[in-house]
Amino acid sequence: MADVLAVVEQRDGKVRGVSREVVTAAANLGGKLGGSVHALLLGPPGVSGAGAALGRFGAEKVLVGESDDLGGYHPQQHALAVAEAVRAGAYGAVVFGATAQGKDLAPRVAAMLDVPLASDVTGYDVVDGIVTAVRPIFAGKAFATVAFAASPALLSIRPNVFQAQERAASGTVETFVPQGLEAASRGLRVREFRATGGESKDVAEASIVVTGGRGMKGPENWGVLEDLRDALGNEAALGASRAVVDAGWRPHGEQVGQTGKTVAPKLYFALGISGAIQHLAGMRTSQTIVAVNKDASAPIFQVADYGIVGDIMEVVPRLAQEIRRLKAGD
Ligand code: FAD
Repeated sequence: MADVLAVVEQRDGKVRGVSREVVTAAANLGGKLGGSVHALLLGPPGVSGAGAALGRFGAEKVLVGESDDLGGYHPQQHALAVAEAVRAGAYGAVVFGATAQGKDLAPRVAAMLDVPLASDVTGYDVVDGIVTAVRPIFAGKAFATVAFAASPALLSIRPNVFQAQERAASGTVETFVPQGLEAASRGLRVREFRATGGESKDVAEASIVVTGGRGMKGPENWGVLEDLRDALGNEAALGASRAVVDAGWRPHGEQVGQTGKTVAPKLYFALGISGAIQHLAGMRTSQTIVAVNKDASAPIFQVADYGIVGDIMEVVPRLAQEIRRLKAGD
């Protein structure tokens, strides 16, 4: 019997959507390990109100560390605080989100505690009391199932792969006061956070992603993709291939792939994208992939569920039009 800890992320005092998936995964693991499920929320003063809602996703106890130091993400201070919370409990597993923050934080905590970490996990289980995890290897070409040889098992789960599940439950909120935060900040100062995506939805959190590649020919043609995104509704976000970002057509925050963001939305549109292995690494676990490319032999068609061989500038406006018509119930 071992407890499970979910490490929750907040931004501007609000719990991020991915954290509901993290708490759900922790609750599922907790059920299998026969222990309690706790969530750890670190944030600015006043964040505890946001923490209470995590009980609905299976956290029996929410540990809230409120401090000005923890308002924004500071790698060393956050790692110290999480490691301290883990040491203070009897955890068999600790779950993070494989977000930009989680990818930085989880390895630091693993190193501090000298325990194993499986990152970017797309499946998990408990077999004979041992936590196992499925994770992509070789840039997503294959999946490995790994079994943890030490405890606690640290996992970071890929956003959008596991659905957050609400239950008829509520959790208690407890104050957590990490020690030594000031000392932990030495040598590293976070000067500012600069949002790259403006007001638009983060591509890593969207359930529908409309991604454009070099086949779009230039930034002036992005209006066609924006129109498709708008037709799909406010769950949709824009993405870009690296060729597009390197050309300066779109911001790096939108890049999908090995050196960009990993996405796993319900629906992924690959528009004018060849399907290089480094791009596939960031999107091949999407639930449904639609590709439009004028080259019938483009590798993207090998991973696509639906493929249209044609010119994007003709196909995409018609797709947007048809989606609007269907949504209007014509
Ligand atoms: P291209 O490969 O040039 O493909 C354009 C496609 O558009 C073609 O298939 C063409 O047939 C089609 N097309 C052209 N005109 C039209 C039209 N009118 N209608 C329909 N289709 C049309 N790439 C990423 O995306 N993300 C990454 O994170 C990433 N990381 C990398 C890391 C490393 C270490 C390396 C070496 C490479 C990385 N790359 C990454 C680059 C990757 O190898 C490819 O170069 C890149 O993905 C190609 O982008 P693309 O598909 O937009 O362009």
